[in-house]
Formats: sequence, C-alpha cells, structure tokens
Amino acid sequence: MTAPSAFLVIQPQEFDMVRRNLCIGVSTFQDTPSKNFWKLMPTKQYAMDTALAAFTTLSARSATEPTRWIMIELKFTEKQWMMLFCSDNFNTAAVTHMTRGPTNSTWYQYRVFGDIPLYEGSGNILGAVEYDIYEFSWPAIGMEVWAEKCLAPRLARGWEFACCQQCGTFPTQVWWADDLNSPLQGKSRRPYCIKCWMNWLLHE
Ligand SMILES: [Zn+2]
Repeated sequence: MTAPSAFLVIQPQEFDMVRRNLCIGVSTFQDTPSKNFWKLMPTKQYAMDTALAAFTTLSARSATEPTRWIMIELKFTEKQWMMLFCSDNFNTAAVTHMTRGPTNSTWYQYRVFGDIPLYEGSGNILGAVEYDIYEFSWPAIGMEVWAEKCLAPRLARGWEFACCQQCGTFPTQVWWADDLNSPLQGKSRRPYCIKCWMNWLLHE
C-alpha cells in the first residue's frame, strides 16, 4: 500500500518562489484563504478547481485566454502523513482541519498550517517531502464559468441585476464585495460587474 498523494495547482510566478525557497507555505501564494493556513487537495481535479476559484491574476485571465499552470504532486510517506495529522507544532507543517466535499463522500481539502519542506536539512520535522511537477496549459473557461467558480462561492451575495459601482453599467449582473473578504481593500459592500471584478484582479 502506498500513501496517497496531495495536489496543488499554482501560478508560474508562485512556482518560482517554491523553487527559490524549496518549501511551500502561506507566503507562496498570491491569494490564500487565511494568513495562517493554505490548502492542499486530495485530487488533481480539486486542485485545478481551487486554482481557478482563487482571487489571482491567472484565474482572472483564465476566463478569456488559455493559461499556463504548475501542478505539484506531494508524495508524502505514511510516516509524514502521520506527522502532519499528529503535530501540534504550527511552526512546522501540521494539518489540523479537513472539510468534506460536496457529495460528502470524499475529503475535499487539507488545511495546512506551516511549511512543507522539499529538501533535507530544513530543520522541519517532516524532512524532505518528495514531489513531482507538471506544467500544463488550460483552455479559456469563459466569463460565466469563471464567475461561477471564482465570484459566486467567495462573495456573500450572489449575482443580481443592479448598477455597477465602478463602470456605471445598468442594468447588469453584479457581485457584491463583502467586508469579510479581506483581499477587497476599498471595495467593501458595493456591487461590481464581472468585467470590473476581472479588471480589479488583473490590475490589483
Ligand atoms: Zn463594471
């Protein structure tokens, strides 16, 4: 029996960080769900979906053009998995939380606190985690699919027809920024159309 892999899809510039530091942690990402943890996925499909749903430049570009991504497969040993789940030391890597998928049948994501080291001698209790890298391109997913993946789940209120507070288009489908979404500095509690959300992500 081999231990299961975990997957991550990131932007090429994020991968440059990984290559430089030889570790993966919160600081690797342009957009993380928290200052404390980041997410690993149990399947390649979930990893890709998560990357497309992030508030990142590449996610916004993926709506209208083919994009290049890096998939990292982390090949934890059984012992490393045990250490991840049993560790209470957040300075080293520790998985403390898992959530279930939409069907409730599979684990959907691992929340990782701390760094995953990719080389020996980092001082991390995990030691070096083996990994594989795949570079690939993804076809444009279209504006509507992008909004469904990226905006709808992240914003407190779904789309409705209103006036966009940025470009003034009316009536148009809008998504409301919410104070709870901390990346949205200066965009609290207002409705924006899909193009303005994309512009904001692309030129943030
Ligand atoms: Zn607008």
